[in-house]
This record gives sequence, C-alpha cells and structure tokens, in this order.
Amino acid sequence: MATNDNGVAGKERSLNFLEEIIEDHINSVDGRIHTRFPPEPNGYLHIGHAKSICLNFGLAERYGGLCNLRFDDTNPVKEDVEYVDSIKEDITWLGFRWAEEHYASDYFEQLYQWAVEMIRKGLAYVDDQSQEEIRLGRGTVTVPGTESPWRNRSVEENLDLFARMRAGEFADGEKVLRAKIDMAHPNMLLRDPIMYRILHTEHHRTGDKWCIYPMYDYAHGQSDSIEKITHSICTLEFDVHRPLYDWFIQTLGIFPSHQYEFARLNLTYTVMSKRKLLQLVENKIVNGWDDPRMPTISAIRRKGYTPAAIRAFAERVGVAKRDNVIDLSLLEFCVREDLNKTAERRMAVLDPLKVTITNYPEGKSELFEAVNNPEDESAGTRQVPFSREIYIERTDFMEEPPKKYYRLAPGAEVRLRYSYLIKCEEVVKDSEGNVVELRCTYDPQSGGGSSSDGRRVKGVIHWVSVPHAREAEIRLYSNLFTKEDPNDVEEGKTFLDYLNPESVVVRKGYIEPSLAQAATGEKFQFERVGYFCVDTDSTPECMVFNRTVGLKDTWAKIADK
Ligand code: ATP
Ligand code: MG
Repeated sequence: MATNDNGVAGKERSLNFLEEIIEDHINSVDGRIHTRFPPEPNGYLHIGHAKSICLNFGLAERYGGLCNLRFDDTNPVKEDVEYVDSIKEDITWLGFRWAEEHYASDYFEQLYQWAVEMIRKGLAYVDDQSQEEIRLGRGTVTVPGTESPWRNRSVEENLDLFARMRAGEFADGEKVLRAKIDMAHPNMLLRDPIMYRILHTEHHRTGDKWCIYPMYDYAHGQSDSIEKITHSICTLEFDVHRPLYDWFIQTLGIFPSHQYEFARLNLTYTVMSKRKLLQLVENKIVNGWDDPRMPTISAIRRKGYTPAAIRAFAERVGVAKRDNVIDLSLLEFCVREDLNKTAERRMAVLDPLKVTITNYPEGKSELFEAVNNPEDESAGTRQVPFSREIYIERTDFMEEPPKKYYRLAPGAEVRLRYSYLIKCEEVVKDSEGNVVELRCTYDPQSGGGSSSDGRRVKGVIHWVSVPHAREAEIRLYSNLFTKEDPNDVEEGKTFLDYLNPESVVVRKGYIEPSLAQAATGEKFQFERVGYFCVDTDSTPECMVFNRTVGLKDTWAKIADK
C-alpha cells in the first residue's frame, strides 16, 4: 500500500493543495457517470435487486458511463462464494456487463489506514463498552445520548488499541472503533457510529487475515469513493445514512461520491427480505433458492421469465421517491407480453378426457399443419399428427352446458384446432357416473378450417393424438402466499402462516410429439392454457414443464377463423 508523507495510504504521491482542488474539481464535474451495483453476497438476488440492477446499469448505459459490480462483503458471518457466483450469473443473464468487479474486502487495508488517519485527527476512538451499553448510551430521538467513558482516550492509546484489535488481541465484542462526532446529534446515526467491530470469523475471500471488520456505513461510501463512483444509488431507507456517508468522505477528503435514494421495489403476494427467503429455503418450504415459486432471479428464470420481460417491468415500474407496492400482475403482464412475441405455440392437454372418433378409420393417421407463432411469421409451421383417438381437456366438455357454451356437449359440434370439426354423439361413463370417454364423429370435409356446407362453428379446442402424444409432468405454480402483503402479519403470526398450500400443483398431462425435442429452458405457449417452459428437472424420458404464467383470459374461447 502506497503511503504519502502524511502517513495516508492510497495515493501514489501527495498532491499539493492546488492539485488537490483541481483534481477534485475535475473529478466531480467531468460529467462522467459511474454507478455501481453493490450486493451483499449473503443470498440470491431477487426481483427487487433486478430493479436496482436495471437502474444502475441502465443509467450507465444511457449516459455512456460505466457500472461496477461491487460485492459488499464486510460481514463474513453470512457470506459465501456460492452467492457471489449466483449473483454474477444473474446479472449476466439479465444482459448487463459490469465495467469492473470489486470486493469491499479488497479495500480492507485502505479502510484500516483511513481509520488510523481518523484516530490521528482525534476523530475516532476505541470504545470498551458492551454492545448494550453503546445502544443505551445512544439515547433516543428525543433524548440526547451520553458520552462513552472511553471517548476521550488519547490518540496514542487509541492507535495502540486499534492496532491490537487488528492483531487479534481481543475477543469478539470486547472493543469497537467509533467515529467521534456528536452524541447529541439530531440524527442518531451520527452519535458516534461504530466503524469497526471484532469478529474472529473466516472470511470467504480474506480468510483469517482480518478479525476486525468495517461496518456498512464506514465501508460503503469509502468504497464508492475509491472507485470514483459519481452516483451511488441505493434504496430509500438509506437516506438517513446520507449525512454520515458525506461526513466520512468529507472528513477523509477523498473523492466526493454522492448518494441518491429511490424507493425499493415491493411486490404483492411475496416476500423479498433475504432473511425471509433464507428461512423458506432452510425450512424446506420451497425446494431451494431457484424453486420457481421464489421471487429470486434464479427462480423466475427457471420458471420461464425472460430478461427482456424483467427489463421491461423495471422500466414500467419507474423510479419512485416514495415506497410503494407493485402488483404482481404487472410483472406477469410483462412476461406475457414478451412471450407472446417469442414463444412458439404447441398443444398440450393437462387434464385429459379421451375422445374416440368413431367414423375415422382405425390405424389411420394424418398430419395437419400448425402455425408456430402467429406473431412471428419466421417461426414457420410444424406438422401435428391426428388419429382416431385423441385427448381433449376435461374442462372443454360439459354434459349440461349453460347457454353460450361453445365447446363440446352432447350433440354439439366443435372445431379441433388445425383439424376437423367433431360432434359429440355419445358420453361414456364408469360405474360411478364419471365421464371417461366421448364418442364423436367427424366431418371428413372439414379438415384445416373449412366445413362441408359452410356452417359456422364457434368453439375451437386444443387436442393431442393419443398414440402420438407424450406424457409429461406439468407443474402449475401460483402465488406462494395467500395474503397480498405477507409481511403484514396479525398478532402471534408470522409470514409463514400465510403460505398458499396450492402454490404448486403437479399434473400428468399429454404433449404433442414435437415437444419431445424441447431443450431445458425452452419456452412455449400451450394453446389456450398458458406459457410453459422446460424445467431443469426434465429428462428425455420424463419431460417436466413449469407454468410460467397463464394466458390473460384463461380458457377464453377462440373465435373460429
Ligand atoms: P435484504 O435487506 O433483503 O438483505 P439488501 O437490500 O440488504 O436486501 P443488498 O445485497 O445489500 O440487499 O442489496 C444490493 C442492492 O440492491 C442495494 O443497493 C439495495 O438497495 C438494492 N435492493 C435491495 N432490495 C431492493 C428492492 N426490493 N428494490 C430495489 N432495490 C433493492
Ligand atoms: Mg444490504
């Protein structure tokens, strides 16, 4: 570490006062935009972080600037490389590239030297009080704090004790380093905030090199400053920290990064605190961080959400100055809007009812041409096999239909998507009266959209051919919580009391044969059902699909074309 003649580390040589002023001036008004995304590697990123990522990287992109990725790894107790790797994967997947990759732990030596400098200036002291004593001594919003009995230690004693803290001579909690500001300050955070605590814990990057760790407030602004970040964007709850952020930077006379706050993203029917998400994982309420019911980026990726949809969502949500809760349906809208343009259509039956077409020759089959994506001509067409036995959706038949029911019913006629018109002639039931099969006839002249006499049939239903269809596991996901705001709990309850017992329903369904080749992560619209994607659990023998999102108007009738 380079040290100038004042004993201050970090600069190659000391600048004269004019150079300092000019350099500061250039650095602060050169019009450069440099942001950063500063996750703590203590969990997987969630959709709230995605908002922050889109904002930080997006601003840099828009204004020709740069955005760093900085791991705010100052709390070794909860952090892990597993999280570092997942965070990098998620940002990359969202489509952003960081200019520089940094770790707050890379600045530990510099931060330590700056703390020494503050002690020298009489602006920091070692406090022997317990955590509890320090807390009580802070006072309250209306009552000023009281000064620690150790507040007026000499510079020499403080330098000695702080060096010995670093050397590992004291146990966890025995001493802390505090900034000497003002115990009566109206902003409680400025009542001699703690800068360092002792933690004899292995750090995922620095190992056992350090046993003192800087607090967020002392580390964050200085890290921004080292990286010459121009706009340090964080969520609203940090606005009360801003004076302290500025105080450290001004006191140290380093690059003047500035903090700006925006409202954090909250979504209905989910929780976003990492502590709560960890609880869901550890208590095995979900199957890991990437369980498609989680709001993490890895989970929604697995569920079939796309980077484009998430970026569009972040754009629509905008940047607010006041906290608000965004309706989950807006996110789903964005997903649907993107998948509608990009996902190919297929047919799949989730709750099968067998239909035998009695006047269709046994053993015969034929192919019908199906459009892959009406929104994208370049997606082309495919061939869908048809035969005497097909599956239709159980909900597409009603024995006693209400008026304006255009699907199948005894004696009613319906269009099979891309194929023939069929008419229900007979309903077969088991001994308990359950409908187990429909016997229908088809109009041989009606293939591919026409009919023999030009009659109009309103209902169109999807289907798969029994001998050609493949069985597949279909996972239908819904909200993880039944309460709009699961954080808002009644007395004696926790957020876990509002879990939706039907957040995942697993079905054995049938898919058209062309889906057998689909790769993990591939997305489709199952016509009339919703958007689905091939899950990571899928194998060629047993394909698994996740419902990404339903269609806006589930089971809406499709007008006969
Ligand atoms: P938690 O409080 O759940 O642990 P965090 O905010 O501490 O989450 P960090 O890893 O520190 O998580 O967050 C990294 C960045 O993402 C921060 O700048 C933070 O402000 C931002 N961020 C976190 N949650 C949200 C959210 N819900 N909406 C917008 N930005 C967020
Ligand atoms: Mg944080």
